[in-house]
Amino acid sequence: MIDDRLQASPARNLRLAARRGLAGRCPACGKGRLFRSYLKPVDSCASCGEDLSQIRADDGPAWLTILVVGHLVVALVLGIDSWAGWPLWQAMAFYPTLGLALCLALLPVSKGLFIGVIWAGEPAPA
Ligand SMILES: [Zn+2]
Repeated sequence: MIDDRLQASPARNLRLAARRGLAGRCPACGKGRLFRSYLKPVDSCASCGEDLSQIRADDGPAWLTILVVGHLVVALVLGIDSWAGWPLWQAMAFYPTLGLALCLALLPVSKGLFIGVIWAGEPAPA
């Protein structure tokens, strides 16, 4: 059974909302900030007033971040280790630090993407 609200409301632009979310901006207007702190989203957009309080990304951003960072770091370990021949202590210091830095950098970007995509999937107000 299809929800009547979905049929009656116009679709939101998924790509635009995803791009705005990736940039850490409101998926509706692209002007207001999406986060009030590192990973805490705002309740509503300061620019357009769009209510963002009901959007819950849950574990999606962490899953995506680990997926991307894991593949990058493993590829780097295999690629660098084959020609650099680093000592074990150097590799044990570098790769975890790189992985942690990439996770911390990508997590808010990933959360913004999820919030943008979830927002685009909601029915627009009539
Ligand atoms: Zn906005």
